[in-house]
Amino acid sequence: MAGPALKACKVCSFISPEDACPRCGGQMSREWQGYLVIIDHTNPR
Ligand SMILES: [Zn+2]
Repeated sequence: MAGPALKACKVCSFISPEDACPRCGGQMSREWQGYLVIIDHTNPR
């Protein structure tokens, strides 16, 4: 996967490369393998 290192919000599981969640301002974690991943729902398929 190329691009910026994505992180997941510990509060709302929002995926973003920011240090703080742009959605709720929560803490982001880079270990988000166990999180509910909601990256690309806009797939053209
Ligand atoms: Zn959040």
